[in-house]
Amino acid sequence: MENRKEMRKWLDDMNLGHPLVIAGPCSAETEEQVLKIAHELKDTDVNYFRSGIWKPRTRPGNFEGVGAIGLKWLQKVKEETGLKTATEVANKAHVDLALEHDIDLLWIGARSTVSPFIVQEIADALKGTDKIVLVKNPVNPDLSLWLGAVERLYSADIEKLGVIHRGFSTYEKTKYRNIPEWQLAIELQTKFPDLPIINDPSHITGKRDMIFDVSQTALDLNFDGLIIETHYDPDNAWSDAAQQVTPKTLIQIMKDLRIRKETDEEAEYNNKLSNLRAQIDVLDNQLIDLLGKRMKVSDGIGELKKQKNVAVLQSNRWNAILGNMILEGEQRGLSEEFVLRMFKAIHQESINHQEKIINA
Ligand code: PEP
Ligand code: MN
Repeated sequence: MENRKEMRKWLDDMNLGHPLVIAGPCSAETEEQVLKIAHELKDTDVNYFRSGIWKPRTRPGNFEGVGAIGLKWLQKVKEETGLKTATEVANKAHVDLALEHDIDLLWIGARSTVSPFIVQEIADALKGTDKIVLVKNPVNPDLSLWLGAVERLYSADIEKLGVIHRGFSTYEKTKYRNIPEWQLAIELQTKFPDLPIINDPSHITGKRDMIFDVSQTALDLNFDGLIIETHYDPDNAWSDAAQQVTPKTLIQIMKDLRIRKETDEEAEYNNKLSNLRAQIDVLDNQLIDLLGKRMKVSDGIGELKKQKNVAVLQSNRWNAILGNMILEGEQRGLSEEFVLRMFKAIHQESINHQEKIINA
């Protein structure tokens, strides 16, 4: 699959003048709940009304969605409010039912994107549809798997495509429910600049008070839209209660978000920017140069250890370096998280160099 300008035609044709907004409850619970939320989202910036009909739950025994009856409620949403509708599909039966009920936008959930069999089944069932299909990132940070799913849809002649960045699961406990790994989304944007990318701050954060900040970061990184779970009584939602916001909060969030332009024509701005970028280029070259030199020194250590048959890894020494660098970093305004990540990467490269020498 190659980047094609036409990938974003469906979005450009909407002529929104603001990011695409998909909002609505995590799950459809009752007809009243669905319609009440939809009416509160009518005449706002919301373009699509989302609602899970079949819910993939991590463990059985939780609410697993109302099933096909909910699609009728979504049809009512469209009739009564004019909002377009969106839901998750996870197999051929879901696709057939969703198409039968004229759902406008379908998305593939994170737990489905990991399975090429399921994605292929969905792609075959959707073949040639003119509905919009968005692919959530897989639960694990694997760009190829994510793109592979998009490719399967693309090969099934689905033209209105896009992706949803909903973060990645980790064993480590972090402040996020699913860590954003922004670099991965940036890499995808670099490879496919015209593939629409929507951010899902609800599933990234898992907490409603973090939604604004993650949404702002997404807009700062040129994301094309947001999908935000919305419920009139979040605390009593049947799924994902902690992360849903009320329609009123959503409207406020949309008002407060600063929408950035991709560029500006003004000469002074462009001059200053080029100047700063030139400085960055020089510094980046110095960084690479220094790292190369550091690895040469490391090679020397490898030679020494080889002569004495000493192990590559010395934990004490490594822990001392890390501790020092965290302190040094702090004084220069570098976060501990960044220093750790960077030095772990440098250390790994160093080990690889020494391994090569010791085993030569
Ligand atoms: C959802 O959007 O409600 C959902 C189940 O999301 P994800 O597939 O990202 O977990
Ligand atoms: Mn949810």
